[in-house]
Amino acid sequence: MTIKKKNTAKEKTPPLVAIISLGCPKALVDSERIMTQLRSEGYQFSPSCEDADVVIVNTCGFLDSAKKESLEAIGDAMNANDRVIVTGCMGAEPESITKAYPKVLTVTGPHQYKAVINAVHLAAPPLHDPNVDLVPPHGIKLTPHHYAYLKISEGCNNRCSFCIIPKLRGSLVSRPIIQVLDEAERFVNAGVKEILVISQDTSAYGTDVKYQSYPWKNRTIRTKFINLCRELGELDAWIRLHYIYPYPHVDEVFELMNDGKILPYIDIPLQHASPSVLKNMRRPGHQEKTLSRIQNWRKICPDLTIRSTFIVGFPGETDEDFEILLDWMKEAKLDRVGCFKYEPVTGAESNKINPHVPEEVKEIRWHRFMQLQQTISAEKLKAKVGKILPVIIDEIGETGAVGRSSADAPEVDGVVHIIGKNLKQGNIVDVKITKSDEYDLFGKICRK
Ligand code: SF4
Repeated sequence: MTIKKKNTAKEKTPPLVAIISLGCPKALVDSERIMTQLRSEGYQFSPSCEDADVVIVNTCGFLDSAKKESLEAIGDAMNANDRVIVTGCMGAEPESITKAYPKVLTVTGPHQYKAVINAVHLAAPPLHDPNVDLVPPHGIKLTPHHYAYLKISEGCNNRCSFCIIPKLRGSLVSRPIIQVLDEAERFVNAGVKEILVISQDTSAYGTDVKYQSYPWKNRTIRTKFINLCRELGELDAWIRLHYIYPYPHVDEVFELMNDGKILPYIDIPLQHASPSVLKNMRRPGHQEKTLSRIQNWRKICPDLTIRSTFIVGFPGETDEDFEILLDWMKEAKLDRVGCFKYEPVTGAESNKINPHVPEEVKEIRWHRFMQLQQTISAEKLKAKVGKILPVIIDEIGETGAVGRSSADAPEVDGVVHIIGKNLKQGNIVDVKITKSDEYDLFGKICRK
């Protein structure tokens, strides 16, 4: 389906929205809320569907007769305009609408105001006037202008025993893929050079909504982890994936990394390696399998950087469990690793597991773990000396700059110290690596 752009920011005419509101007073209030929000963003309303840039049909699904009336209203709107968004009670069963009208732009359920507003933004972007608007099109960011976090879902369906996030934030709620992609495009249009994909469990994206389909550009796209990665990979920006849970379907993404679409970097919190500790944590317990999968990932994508986090001193962790963890680390040789000493968070199930590990034992284990990882990290970084790596510039100093390679996420990983002139924050430059230490690289700018 080709979506014609009837309005452009250049023409400076506010987009026109037509709204057909069916059903009870509760649905009417929903329509009012949508209209209030759109009006506050500068949209105007049109009494006719033909003249509008986009049409919203707020449906009623209470009785069969109401459903019939809603479907007829959608049909009338589609005859008058090729950009129709459907919301309201009938949206709770999107197939009943998309089956009859496969070309509707989006179907959202009742009370999904935000999703409707986002769909309107996509179909008929609001006018942006930098002299008047208080908020830029990509929103207000607390990160430097060249990188941004892209949150793809809220909550989590896992129930790790040490974690109270599902209690605090609820189960997984994935954002519609078109909303996420639209936000990512707005980042790139605003000059963002690196997008960091985050959530509690990035690889579970879309499972809660049964991979719901949405129209996107000229095709239909499903709300699915790999689809999201594919689409993001087409943007002119570095894409970095965080908080991946080791589900089998994750394996698909390494081809994209090897093809240069997604940064060859994966942040996969593994937490432990001993099967009994993993069982107590309620995490997947096949670390041997994880090890062979890691080897396979590295075969597919030899430049892969693996970041992970671990917990030492988990209740019930024995000396033997800890040695299993160290042995596993020696084999896995992960690139970037964080380690936490177990803390009994109020409300966490794991607090009931006994015996708890004494603080001094946690301290000793943490130091042994970090020492081992420091040696592994130093070795891995040493192997990069002599290579030329693309580096994104974060900060400019007197004699050079500090940046990050594909192996370094901001705030949590190491950096690359660069000697060179005329560098600019956010630029991606080639750096010849001349030196390394335990966590950082040092190099000089390569001029072509
Ligand atoms: S640790 Fe992560 S995966 Fe486990 S329940 Fe908490 S948020 Fe979910």
